[in-house]
Amino acid sequence: MNKLRYSEAFYSVQGEGKFVGVPSVFLRTFGCNFRCINFGLPRGTPMRETGVKYNPEVRKLLDDGITSKTEKFEDLPIVHTGCDTYASIYPEFKKYMMDRTADEVVDHLLSLIPEGKWTMNNGQDIHLVITGGEPLLGWQRFWQELLEHPRMRDLKNVTFETNATQSFLAVAISITAVAFVSPVASAPVCEGPHISKDISTDSVSENFSYAVAISALVAAKSSVPLASELVDTAKASPAALSKV
Ligand code: SF4
Repeated sequence: MNKLRYSEAFYSVQGEGKFVGVPSVFLRTFGCNFRCINFGLPRGTPMRETGVKYNPEVRKLLDDGITSKTEKFEDLPIVHTGCDTYASIYPEFKKYMMDRTADEVVDHLLSLIPEGKWTMNNGQDIHLVITGGEPLLGWQRFWQELLEHPRMRDLKNVTFETNATQSFLAVAISITAVAFVSPVASAPVCEGPHISKDISTDSVSENFSYAVAISALVAAKSSVPLASELVDTAKASPAALSKV
């Protein structure tokens, strides 16, 4: 039986992108193939070298024994530079990670929704935002099991927030919900051109619709061409984009 490793799930309102303002359940997976350390540096600060494992702020927290002092994931301090979900990417924070079956994850997600179902009595649908970490990092088989679960049938809209390095195809051919793929280009821009072309493929099943939203945060003008390449990659697949 597949299990999902995740850090947290919570109910809130989407604060960005196409579905801003829509009530959503956020599911944050554990693990990422990047270690982004350059977010939030003051303007003009030289970017830190790629290949550095720890954001200095996170390194200091670890050196100060943060994991032995903090009981709950939600009580961990906020950092101001680097990946803001550091506790979902570094193995040192595994103690906060949940490792649960599809049944257990569904129980958790539905317990967060006011009416305990994805489509409310007034017709408003609750979206599911699968974020991370990197949610497409080897989890494809689990996503099929989760999204095809009997108690997920009234779920109409799923957003995968991905760093765009992983294949989306295995997910796309297996689920029938409408998915909205939101590749955050910042990591590839920081680390190099690792963008998966599958993100914009139109080779998906007929009963599956998806769109791609590009959120590119660039630290330097020299990174703009790479962000533009990602946008062009998505535009090169109008058939897939027009299905939504
Ligand atoms: S890709 Fe996203 S989750 Fe992963 S390290 Fe970078 S900012 Fe964090």
